Amino acid sequence: MSPTQIATRPDWRLEIQRAYTKPELLLANLGLNPEQFQADCKARSLFPMRVPRPFAQLMQQGNRDDPLLLQVLPRTQEFDKTEGYTDDPLGEISDNVLTDEVGGLLHKYRSRVLLIVKGGCAVNCRYCFRRHFPYQEVRFSQHELQQTVNYLNRHPEVNEVILSGGDPLMASDAQLKSIVEQLASVTSLKRVRIHSRLPVVIPSRLTQQLKELLVSTRLKPILVIHANHGNELSDTLEQHLNDYNRAGILLLNQSVLLAGINDSSAALSRLSERLFDANVLPYYLHQLDKVSGAAHFEVSDQRAQQIWQEMNHALPGFLVPKLVRELAGEQSKTPIMPAGPVSIT
Ligand SMILES: *Cc1c(COP(=O)(O)O)cnc(C)c1O
Ligand code: SF4
Repeated sequence: MSPTQIATRPDWRLEIQRAYTKPELLLANLGLNPEQFQADCKARSLFPMRVPRPFAQLMQQGNRDDPLLLQVLPRTQEFDKTEGYTDDPLGEISDNVLTDEVGGLLHKYRSRVLLIVKGGCAVNCRYCFRRHFPYQEVRFSQHELQQTVNYLNRHPEVNEVILSGGDPLMASDAQLKSIVEQLASVTSLKRVRIHSRLPVVIPSRLTQQLKELLVSTRLKPILVIHANHGNELSDTLEQHLNDYNRAGILLLNQSVLLAGINDSSAALSRLSERLFDANVLPYYLHQLDKVSGAAHFEVSDQRAQQIWQEMNHALPGFLVPKLVRELAGEQSKTPIMPAGPVSIT
């Protein structure tokens, strides 16, 4: 590779290459003894470990229960078989959604479609509902994009396209620009929304080019980041998000409720406050999807409702996310907020 190529490769791409893939190395750099995690490390065979360094830098030295570490470190519990937990909790593989009419397009909800523009992620989250997803089958090139545009022209009830994955921000800014420009030609579309965890794990992914392409389209841009804990909102991330917000991009967050990581009103209230510092509004708090290998992260609906009620008392309404579950075959996410006061026993 020539020196100029190295110089022009964006910083975030280098961070993806430099990510930790060996638990032993991550643990040692956190001042933890890898020998105490030997059984855990075997769970890499179920789902590879992948942890970008900027995310690892937010973990506390010497803390084996660090809420960021627990989201990404392989654990022996992932080998447990649990009733009700499957490889395809949302029926996405069995519905054959990827080989349907248009590759990579999911049209489950009336007014918006989801496009799987990129298979992989920068980080592998152990609770991921797509940990068994056949990503190698995902192709989203010019052909799929043209088919998507044709599909959208035949479906004027769709006014919003959600770029998803994997992680859509694994695509280059040039690819994203081409996608957004062609989508903008569909007159019935009003919004383009990106769902991504990349900004949280590698803040430098929020490049100036990405910001410019999002604010220069006629479509209203929305960026939904995926942060689960207040410690994920670094000052660097906050600066990037403030910059995007000033440019006119609506910023939202969605989280997954995770046992041992954020399952308290105190942790989630702090997350909401940190999000607001960065001009991000909480959108959804998801109950875990029942994917095999993730049962140890489960929080019961009753406990979830209790936590939500406590947040509702502690925060202004705009900092309380909607508590929802995704059920295969439903027309929308299913709200599970309590209708009235929850008795706290
Ligand atoms: C979650 C999801 C959406 C978006 O739902 P919103 O309630 O608009 O955030 C759209 N399509 C699919 C397939 C989804 O899973
Ligand atoms: S970033 Fe999202 S899609 Fe990727 S592994 Fe994590 S939870 Fe799954």
